Amino acid sequence: MTMTNTTGTSRDDLAPSERSGAPVALRHLRRRFATTTALDGFSLDLQPGEFVALLGPSGCGKTTALRVLAGFETPDEGSVWVDGADVTGVPAQRRDMGMVFQSYSLFPNLSAHDNVAFGLRLRKVSGSERRRRANELLELVGLAEHRSKFPHQLSGGQQQRVALARALAIEPRVLLLDEPLSALDAKVRAELRDQIRFLQRRLSITTLFVTHDQEEALSMADRVGVMYQGRAEQIAAPAELYARPETPFVAEFVGITSRVPATRRDDTHVELLGRVVPVRGHLGVSSPELEALLRPEDLTVRLAVDGPAVIVNRSFLGSTTRLEVALGSSIVKVDVAHRTSEDLPHLARVDLEVVAPDVLVSARR
Ligand code: ATP
Repeated sequence: MTMTNTTGTSRDDLAPSERSGAPVALRHLRRRFATTTALDGFSLDLQPGEFVALLGPSGCGKTTALRVLAGFETPDEGSVWVDGADVTGVPAQRRDMGMVFQSYSLFPNLSAHDNVAFGLRLRKVSGSERRRRANELLELVGLAEHRSKFPHQLSGGQQQRVALARALAIEPRVLLLDEPLSALDAKVRAELRDQIRFLQRRLSITTLFVTHDQEEALSMADRVGVMYQGRAEQIAAPAELYARPETPFVAEFVGITSRVPATRRDDTHVELLGRVVPVRGHLGVSSPELEALLRPEDLTVRLAVDGPAVIVNRSFLGSTTRLEVALGSSIVKVDVAHRTSEDLPHLARVDLEVVAPDVLVSARR
């Protein structure tokens, strides 16, 4: 696609370094509402053109962080930086950001075309240029033949595509997506997920995406920020976040985790399932009685007639089988290659072995 800005330069004519989106920094944000602390010292940096998802339980402050970046909410403390400038006091309409919300929020009395062209009209772009750009964007989101329809004549997925085209039409420095897929059914959701990611990469727009859907965050984002009680628990690439969670909260919020009893050996090691294993990060608990938080692939099982554990459930997952293994009062989930699992029947006694190079631990519950 060739997008033309108000000075008449085509984005595709620009050198790659000039086409990058703006860097964004949220610094030590605090925001209280009466007795609720929505943001409690939240910081986040987005690189130019980066797609970052904020993930976390309901009420952890995701939307407030996005609204502070948009300029709809003023922080009590902290600052917001876009492209090296402090925009903390700049009103929303002068921040040059595109937004897509969960509710499609299109103007009901305007056609798809006029909805997309709306922001360009506000920016005093000429009529012919508005039409050209609106049509180009509608084509890009696959809605060229629906340009004259009104929102009530479009499906939810189509309306959300119009909303996306409208957000992109103004060539925003930053794109803000607040649960844009939540109202859509699974198939449309998956299609739109791919489309958003494709356009975001192609236009290289720095993007902040708020979601409570783990799969969406991990599959779409360059980095995911897991929030808890107004703070960032961990901000990392999806694979890193999954494989090396830094806190018990992240381990249990993202992916499957089993808790297995462990005993403190020294400041850097625990004894776990008969082995001495290094602790990941800092062992911030003084109690000798600990628990290791393990992914299903951090463990393996071996048949053993006098083994301490029993297979109590097996679920076929395609190339792997997930075993649920009873160990004392714990149920431990272990993934094994499907072929191997045929030798591991229901109610077989087994030995459990840790195969992870290090483990995350917390105090025993
Ligand atoms: P969800 O996933 O449910 O949308 P969230 O992580 O986006 O949650 P926020 O909407 O940022 O959470 O809200 C954080 C906290 O601040 C919540 O406890 C919420 O009730 C509170 N809050 C947010 N906006 C306001 C407001 N305008 N007035 C009072 N409290 C608010």
